[in-house]
Amino acid sequence: MSESSKIKNRTIETLEDLLAHAIALENEAVERYDEIADNMDVHNNPQVAGLFRRLAGYGRKHAEEMENRAVHMALPHIAPWDFLWQSADSPEAAEVGETHYLMTPYHVVELAHRVEMTAHTFYQGVAETSTNPAVKILAREFAAEEAEHVALLEEWRERYPHPDINWDEDLDPPMMHE
Ligand code: ZN
Repeated sequence: MSESSKIKNRTIETLEDLLAHAIALENEAVERYDEIADNMDVHNNPQVAGLFRRLAGYGRKHAEEMENRAVHMALPHIAPWDFLWQSADSPEAAEVGETHYLMTPYHVVELAHRVEMTAHTFYQGVAETSTNPAVKILAREFAAEEAEHVALLEEWRERYPHPDINWDEDLDPPMMHE
């Protein structure tokens, strides 16, 4: 997936714009991770459910910190179609509708890894393209936090290697193909 294809041709030039995007992104991720956690409980996998509750917890804490930062700002209302990312969902929102891919720990860990990578790339892109130094600094900070989540998921990836059963009919979710 070409990461740049996710970002439209405009840059983020204000802290308000950055925070509005980041809060939306985190809240969506939390919602989806909670759903995946519930799904893993249903599939009797408390371990992976725990991982996703942990990721949801980070997201919740992150969103709270951002909301505190934004408390004296007037954040722009960003309609979903105005989001910088082009898909209907934010980069950090796992495609929970794709339940087929949520059947095994392998698949949900892979999915979350991709989601966190995309969020990381998004913030890094903002840090690189914005001309506002304050936006650059904050975006870089957010990118560093996402890098921690990516590292955590890389550990989990090793615990859950590719399942041997026949998942090969369509290994890559459709959203991966451009
Ligand atoms: Zn994250």
